[in-house]
Amino acid sequence: MLKKRVKGCFDIYPNAKEQWQDPKIWEFIETTLKKIVDLYGFSKVTTPVFEYTEIFTRSSGEESDIVNKEMYTFLDKKNRSLTLRPELTAPVIRAYIENGGASKPLSKLYYTGPCFRYDRPQKGRYRQFHQFGIEVIGKKDPIIDVEVISMLLHLFELLGLTKTTLLINSLGSIESRSLYTKELMKYYLEFEKKLSEDSKRRLQSNPLRILDSKDKGDIEINKNAPSIINYLDEESKEHFERVKKGLDAVGISYKIDSKLVRGLDYYNDTVFELVRADDLSAQNTLAAGGVYSGLISLLGGKDTPGIGFALGIERIIQYLLEEKISIKEKPTCTCYLIGMNKACKEKLLPVLQQLRKQEISSELFEGTSIKTGLKNASEKGAKYAIILGEEELQKGVCKIKNLEAREEKEIPLDSSAETIKELTAIPRETIC
Ligand code: ATP
Ligand code: MG
Repeated sequence: MLKKRVKGCFDIYPNAKEQWQDPKIWEFIETTLKKIVDLYGFSKVTTPVFEYTEIFTRSSGEESDIVNKEMYTFLDKKNRSLTLRPELTAPVIRAYIENGGASKPLSKLYYTGPCFRYDRPQKGRYRQFHQFGIEVIGKKDPIIDVEVISMLLHLFELLGLTKTTLLINSLGSIESRSLYTKELMKYYLEFEKKLSEDSKRRLQSNPLRILDSKDKGDIEINKNAPSIINYLDEESKEHFERVKKGLDAVGISYKIDSKLVRGLDYYNDTVFELVRADDLSAQNTLAAGGVYSGLISLLGGKDTPGIGFALGIERIIQYLLEEKISIKEKPTCTCYLIGMNKACKEKLLPVLQQLRKQEISSELFEGTSIKTGLKNASEKGAKYAIILGEEELQKGVCKIKNLEAREEKEIPLDSSAETIKELTAIPRETIC
C-alpha cells in the first residue's frame, strides 16, 4: 500500500496525533542537547546513514543482537554489502580515523541522527529511531569517565527528568574479562539445557552476551552468575574505584550492577546505563555508554582509548510526556497581518516582506474575516496584528493592535513595519 509508512517508522509532523511525534517537542530536545554540548565543549560530527557492513560487524561483535538480528543490510549495484547504521559510535570512530584522528590531545565529538534496527516495533522501540551521543577520544582516565557521566546527568536535569537511576559496572581489561568469561562459561554449562536457543549458541561464541539476554529464563539463570567485579585486575579495580570516588565527589549517586555488560562487544572498564527509576520494562534504558579501549584499533586506527554514551530521543520524549513536564512553546509568529479584502491583502504584501527582512516573524492571514484572523493570531502567539480594511486603505493608514494589552491605534501604512520594529525592540512589559 503506497499510503502507508514502513512498519516501525513514524513521521514527525505538526500537531501529530501522537503527541511525541509533534515537532515542537523535538525542537525542545534539540535545543537542550545543543545547550549541553556547548557547555561541555563538544563539536558536531555528521556521518552518512549507511556504512560498509564490516564497520558494524567488526565493532559490535557477531554475537550482539544488533549484528545478529537487527541490521538493515543490503547489496548495492556493485554487490558491496552496506548497512543502515544501527548506532553511531562505530561510524563516528570510522570518521575520526579517516579524518586523521586527533588534532588535540582529546577529541570531543557529538552526533545526532536517525538509526535503523530491525527491532520488534512497540512503544520505545522503532525501526527508525534517533540517537544523540558523545564520544571523548584520546585518553583513558577515570576523571574523563566522571565528566562524561556528569554531563549525561546534567542533560537529564536540564530536561527536567530526575527520577532516574544510574547503573555502573566495570568490564575490566581484555585479559581479566577473558578470565571471567571462562568462569561464566563453567557456570552456564550447568544450565545449558535451560538456556534460550540464542544463549545456547552464545555459550560457545560469547558467553558474556548471555548476561545481556532479554529472555525471561535466561534472566533467572543470570541472577546467580559469577560477578565480573571479582575478576578485575589491579589496574581496572583502581580505575573503577577512582570513578566511584569521582562520582561521590560531584554528588552523583549510582548503583553498581555487576550484570551490566552492554549489548556491544567493544566496551571495557567503566560501563553505565541511565534507567527510569519507576519503570522496570525492557524499554526503560534511557541512555547507555562506556569506555572502549580497543575499538579504534579494531577499526584500523592507531590504538587510542575512548568513552561515550548514546541515548534514544524517542524514549526521552515519551518519558517527558508521561512526566507531564511542561515545555515552553516558542511563538511561531510575532506579527499577524489581516487584510479585509483582496486589495488590502495586496497592499499588505510589501509590509510583510519588510517585516521579515527586519527579522520579525510575520504571516499574512489567508482569509478576510477579522474575527477568524485575530483568533489565528492569538493561537500563533503573535504579539501584534496589523489590520487593513477598505476605509483605512483609502486613508493610507492601518490599525495596529497590541494583542496582549488589547489596545489598538491607527498609524500610516507605509511606516507600519518600522513601527512594529520599534515596538518589538522594547521589552514587552514596558509596552502600553
Ligand atoms: P535495548 O536494551 O533497549 O534494546 P540497546 O542496548 O539495544 O537497548 P543501545 O544500543 O545501547 O541500546 O542504544 C542506546 C539507546 O538507544 C537505548 O538506550 C535506547 O534509548 C535507544 N534505542 C535502542 N534501540 C532502539 C529502538 N529500536 N527504538 C528506539 N530507541 C532505541
Ligand atoms: Mg536493543
